[in-house]
Amino acid sequence: MSVMDAAVDYEALTAEGLVAQIAQAAEKGSVCLTSSFQTEDMVALHMLRKHLPDVPVIFLETGYHFPEVIAYRDRMAEEWNLNLVNAMPELTVKEFEGKFGILNIVDPTACCKARKVEPLMRSLEPFDWWFTGLRREQSPTRAGLKKIEDHKVPSGKHMKKISVLADWDWARVTEYAEREGIPHLELYDRGYTSIGCEPCTAIPAAGEDARSGRWGGKKLECGIHTFSEKE
Ligand code: SF4
Repeated sequence: MSVMDAAVDYEALTAEGLVAQIAQAAEKGSVCLTSSFQTEDMVALHMLRKHLPDVPVIFLETGYHFPEVIAYRDRMAEEWNLNLVNAMPELTVKEFEGKFGILNIVDPTACCKARKVEPLMRSLEPFDWWFTGLRREQSPTRAGLKKIEDHKVPSGKHMKKISVLADWDWARVTEYAEREGIPHLELYDRGYTSIGCEPCTAIPAAGEDARSGRWGGKKLECGIHTFSEKE
């Protein structure tokens, strides 16, 4: 992994400044971004592509996404000529439900583990720098998020996780997206504020935080941002 510059206060950098610093420091082929194609991810990707146009964009293809998300993913992959990596679970939805039943109802943690966390762990293995669109404002579980965190994944590999929009609020995200002409997922127009798999995503009640409509309020994280060990 490229060595970070101890003289640079990375937390104090702007999102664009941080992207530029890491893109310059990272070795070729060592950077990826995970994306669920929500607006935060598109903004982070928009910034990153200015420096690394071929950056792998990892999408967790659980088989349970809204058709609108898949259509938007495919549209943006074509329009932006993305290096899209669909991270697949070992079993198809049919095989999975045939073996375990509808786990997203009876055991969503096990479902997320099989269809999100494990495919992500496999996909991250070649990389040293993992960009995300996470923000502190999104939920109480993300309030302490740092722009750069050291993580150890279960294989023992160490990575830097970069959340360039950690200190951005939703207004700033949408302002950037509108200014840059980034098309948005139409599900936002229907009241969704955090969009994941269809069976586990609802429109949150008025005044609740953005991720409160996920998993019927039973949990706030699928595990892809908690499986690794923060160091
Ligand atoms: S979000 Fe729901 S459907 Fe998607 S992997 Fe997790 S439990 Fe399964």
